[in-house]
Amino acid sequence: MIPDNIQINQYKISNSSYFRVIFVKNIVKALKKIVGKNNVLTDELILALYSKNAIGSSGKALCVVFPENSTHISEIVRLCYKENIKIYPQGSATELSGSSTPHDGIVMSFSKMNKIEEINIVDGYVCVQPGVRIHELNDVLSEYGYMFPVDPASGKSATIGGAINTGAGGLRGARYGTMTDWVLGLEVVIPDENGTLLKLGNNTLKCRQGYDLVRLIVGSEGTLAIVTRAFLKITPAPENIVVVTSFFNSPEDAMKAIGEIKKRRMLPAMMEFIDEDVVRMGKEIIDVKTEGEGHMLIVGQECPPELAEKCAEKLVNIMKGADATYIDFALSESEAENKGLINLRRAFYPLAINLGSKEFGESITLVLIEDFVVPVSKLPEAVRIVKEAGKKYGFMVLTGGHVGDGNLHPMIWTDVENKEMMEKAEKFYLEIMERIIEIGGSISAEHGIGEMKREGLKLELRKRGSEKALDIMKQIKEVWDPKSILNPNKVV
Ligand SMILES: Cc1cc2nc3c(=O)[nH]c(=O)nc-3n(C[C@H](O)[C@H](O)[C@H](O)COP(=O)(O)OP(=O)(O)OC[C@H]3O[C@@H](n4cnc5c(N)ncnc54)[C@H](O)[C@@H]3O)c2cc1C
Repeated sequence: MIPDNIQINQYKISNSSYFRVIFVKNIVKALKKIVGKNNVLTDELILALYSKNAIGSSGKALCVVFPENSTHISEIVRLCYKENIKIYPQGSATELSGSSTPHDGIVMSFSKMNKIEEINIVDGYVCVQPGVRIHELNDVLSEYGYMFPVDPASGKSATIGGAINTGAGGLRGARYGTMTDWVLGLEVVIPDENGTLLKLGNNTLKCRQGYDLVRLIVGSEGTLAIVTRAFLKITPAPENIVVVTSFFNSPEDAMKAIGEIKKRRMLPAMMEFIDEDVVRMGKEIIDVKTEGEGHMLIVGQECPPELAEKCAEKLVNIMKGADATYIDFALSESEAENKGLINLRRAFYPLAINLGSKEFGESITLVLIEDFVVPVSKLPEAVRIVKEAGKKYGFMVLTGGHVGDGNLHPMIWTDVENKEMMEKAEKFYLEIMERIIEIGGSISAEHGIGEMKREGLKLELRKRGSEKALDIMKQIKEVWDPKSILNPNKVV
């Protein structure tokens, strides 16, 4: 029996496996007292599942806890602060930088905090709990003719809490920006001795509250505070979207088309690019009807149905002017779906997994996804940089991304059991990060820093002569999380 008055931490300091078992048992017992016995899981298989992210980077969780409200979260934080137990907040773990990976602490899942609490069309906001998935929110909002426009390609799984904390963007980023632009207010629990609950910002469309702590939390990757509720701005959904898919001999030609769209004062909701290798190999594995070859650009322009033909004609002319070799279009999103105009773009990530597993057979394939952003005019140079680096280190690189805002996601696949290949992959990424910074880009647009890009962040700040910024960030972490119990060793 474990005595009730025992200090959990007394056990932690011992390395003996006997005491360690008692330590974990005590944590679990204390957590069950707070959230109820069904809301703490310790099964080995469950722990393994909650210790991995979307690309397979993995750690070790002691248990998984499912709070049902902010009071639960506050009490859990109080306990963990007192006992020096690490907390790893987790939405759907679809992040791609190792920002949700646990290391010897409790995973806090928000799957039981998934209610849309308020939809207020007149005041222009929704109030949601952190475990609501982006697509679920949009399904409900569509009944009102509204939408929440930040749409990561993982939106069917991605939660609001996760998207806030990664500072997510998505396919509509060129027109609608990222989470930074859509969070009005947050309720958070901070990792102090009281598990203090703070209300930051407001549910109004404007709010000046001194230093902008709302935007400090957006993109903080679960390292500063736990988001327990969010007030998000919403916007009317477009009546209709015209989709034009074009193919080009070079990224430069595709860039010409993007430049012309901008000069013609159009602001498409979607501008997606995939390179010629993705097109060629994608066509081999999925059923795509297009005869187009080369680099592909998909443009989705919002416009009322009665103007759809005119809008499509304007875009087709722009593509012809940029020497497109093949063009197809649809006057509505449903027509685009029927024609499969977006299928090749959707196949981008699965294609890398498919090619990796073919190449490595039984070994575990790790698909590594880069996430840099450059000035839009530098996109062709950026594509060249990653392809050249791929050749140098012996990787096939697939490139695609949200080019309307200059965001590319080059992908390679490696065999995790092949040490030499993993080292080469690291060198490959460090080299492209360095070159991207040199052409005026930044190492992360929307996936964040997590564990995997901490060196990249240092590199970028050093190259900009701003090392002091890293010190300031470390100090911010210390102020919010003095004992470093909340998602430690991530970002800074
Ligand atoms: C196929 C695929 C496509 C993707 N496409 C895009 C894309 O187009 N754009 C894009 O931006 N991203 C994309 N992503 C990355 C990822 O899906 C997004 O960042 C997503 O928003 C993460 O949501 P999540 O619920 O999975 O969060 P998680 O991965 O669980 O967590 C992300 C971060 O948030 C923290 N966190 C989670 N909930 C809370 C909370 N309540 N309080 C405090 N911290 C919290 C975690 O600790 C972690 O640091 C993609 C991923 C995949 C696998």
